[in-house]
Amino acid sequence: MDISYIINELGEEREKYFNAVAPPVIQTSNFVVNTVAELRDLFYDEYNGYIYTRGHNPTVDILRKKLAALDGAEDCLVFNSGSSAIYAAVMANVKTGDHIVSVNKPYFWAQKLFNDILPKFGVTTTYVDGTDVENFRKAIQSNTAVIYLESPNSWYYELQDLEAVAAIAKEKGILTICDNSYCTPLYQRPIALGIDIALQSATKYIGGHSDVVAGVLCGTTAMMRKIFDGEFCTAGNGISPFNAWLLLRGLRTLPIRLEKITRNTGKVLSFLKQHPQVESVIFTMDEDFPQLALAKKQMQGACGLLSFFIKTDSIHNIVRFCERLQHIHMAVSWGAYESLVIPGCAIVPEKKYDASKKEQRMVRLYVGQEEPEYIIADIAQALSRI
Ligand SMILES: *Cc1c(COP(=O)(O)O)cnc(C)c1O
Repeated sequence: MDISYIINELGEEREKYFNAVAPPVIQTSNFVVNTVAELRDLFYDEYNGYIYTRGHNPTVDILRKKLAALDGAEDCLVFNSGSSAIYAAVMANVKTGDHIVSVNKPYFWAQKLFNDILPKFGVTTTYVDGTDVENFRKAIQSNTAVIYLESPNSWYYELQDLEAVAAIAKEKGILTICDNSYCTPLYQRPIALGIDIALQSATKYIGGHSDVVAGVLCGTTAMMRKIFDGEFCTAGNGISPFNAWLLLRGLRTLPIRLEKITRNTGKVLSFLKQHPQVESVIFTMDEDFPQLALAKKQMQGACGLLSFFIKTDSIHNIVRFCERLQHIHMAVSWGAYESLVIPGCAIVPEKKYDASKKEQRMVRLYVGQEEPEYIIADIAQALSRI
């Protein structure tokens, strides 16, 4: 399906709402039925109708259709955060006694689920270095129910060969889930590579304006229905109609925003790589990236997030750099219009800072949509002061 058609037209039934170009926010909690038989049908099959907005809502459904199509999936569910999407996808597919194989260092709250919450219910997790496919094969046990992936990882940028891992999982009847927030379906399509559930934090590129928190799951209708009938409606963590509307608005400009961020990232990358005070840069589409061949094989692009190391062992220099930036803000999250920075040294108490640990010396930069010269000038002046 043509991406322009998906973004501009798919799912929009304008004749139902006065031919308005922009869809309305159907801000209602409940829906009226005319007959008892209709009500009964909805009680038995909430998935295929409108009864209550904790389940489905027409504004959200327009978004679901577009996001499913972008991922090349049959169906989609949208949550009120990426984290709740992770929670639902995993919880719906494990039971007591099951085992999960997860890539090392997935998103923080996924780790929390695997390390602290699931063990309470007798579900264990083995973490593997995902850069070698054989590590997945070795970690699989007879009770492994889920393989959890995040490629690239949004801090360390390590990739997993999605097609190869999916093939191993299929052979053994294991479900695969891949966090695709870094790429979005525009730059990587996990389902086409054989992954069962593609997951995204829509807070990042889909929303794109730092004003909404949301998450997406895409997969088969049967899988989405199973999650809907269980975790989605029970936890009640579906997206609100207004936030869905904000994501529809975000989608209209997703291709052009990614294009601009990709161009900007290339320029910032070149600047950093030639700067005498920069030791090295990690970016998935950089010629020095160790998994560049795999990146080119399974990703159509990359942009925004990169990390670099300043030539210094002193935490004070890193702090000085981050605090002297005038236009690039220090904040969590990424994927919106504004450039952001986070120093790895913020994850440890200052006294415990250990310069030999790369993740503590690292500075993560998100390159936004400002003019590249503006971003580069800010980095240059902050580097000049250390
Ligand atoms: C932000 C993020 C999440 C979590 O999404 P929220 O919308 O913040 O709950 C999950 N995975 C990755 C890679 C992220 O960057």
